[in-house]
Amino acid sequence: MSEAKIYIGTDSGATTSKVGAVKLDGTPVSTKLSQKPTDAHKGRDAVLDGWMAAIEEFIAENGYGWADVGGVGLSIPGPFLAPGVLGEAANLPKDMDGWNVAADYAARLSKAAGRPIKVNVGNDGNYGGVAEARLVRGEGRGTVLMLAPGSGLGVAFVDDRGLPLDGDSLVGMEGGHMPLPLQLVGMPAFKCGCGRDWGCVEAYTTISGLPQLLAVMLERHPEHPLASSPAPIKEKVLSLRTLAQKGDALANEIFDFQAKALGIHVANLAMAVDPEFVVIGGGLMDPESTTDAFRARYLKTLEEAAKPYLWPAQRKKIKYSAARLGELSQAIGAALVALYSA
Ligand SMILES: [Zn+2]
Repeated sequence: MSEAKIYIGTDSGATTSKVGAVKLDGTPVSTKLSQKPTDAHKGRDAVLDGWMAAIEEFIAENGYGWADVGGVGLSIPGPFLAPGVLGEAANLPKDMDGWNVAADYAARLSKAAGRPIKVNVGNDGNYGGVAEARLVRGEGRGTVLMLAPGSGLGVAFVDDRGLPLDGDSLVGMEGGHMPLPLQLVGMPAFKCGCGRDWGCVEAYTTISGLPQLLAVMLERHPEHPLASSPAPIKEKVLSLRTLAQKGDALANEIFDFQAKALGIHVANLAMAVDPEFVVIGGGLMDPESTTDAFRARYLKTLEEAAKPYLWPAQRKKIKYSAARLGELSQAIGAALVALYSA
């Protein structure tokens, strides 16, 4: 049997699945992602068929074969009933509830390869953090806290081995649903999609909570055109990023607020995990949708909000940066976990 040359990562989203791979030194095989519909509504076999086809295509396109594959990582949104076993999720059909996806995927992969192939399965946000961590820490062993505000708040902690803190049921570091110290930000307890009523950080830092944040801000600024605009709230919320970059004071105040809230949360999480690096991902850090000035302002506001609550040594030590891999991160991170766990 030949030596493994690459490790594969499958990133399963609710609608599309992506494939990436890394070589033995951790560098990506390709920066071009292979994407396929997840076809979750067609059932478990259809999902596995799609993942297998995507891998076949990816390895052939890049000049490899099954003999070169050392292992596979699977990045998937939870919740999980047990490691590798899916629980009922809002964005997946009922058929997926209780599915031991890790075991079934390993069986299909092993059959195709003609030898046992191990599957590491984990939370997509955690695996995204693994890929970004490799870039910031380089050859070092510094630990990495990653926060990715988007529609929700992805949070990951990557330890000195390069592996994520998963917890016993893969919901470790679900930090978006920890409470924000509301007395520091002067806001009421917003509702959160998770149902908790303690003012989840996610509601103050992501698109999911923007309608509530905008409503409070418009009460404070009744002169703003958005206060009298008849446009639906969703449309108003989605206009804020463009408005901020055009210099609109209220829109900037809103993103400054989000950055401050996330900074306070960074300090809170640093009490538990004491990271060397903090990486901020998500749409606000995407160079294709925000300006350099916008991203720099967001990171500076976040860092300044965190600072007073950190230990003195942490204030000097922690290095802040924007995520670099974008939508590649979860597939590459899954591949890296397979490599590190081999
Ligand atoms: Zn929540």
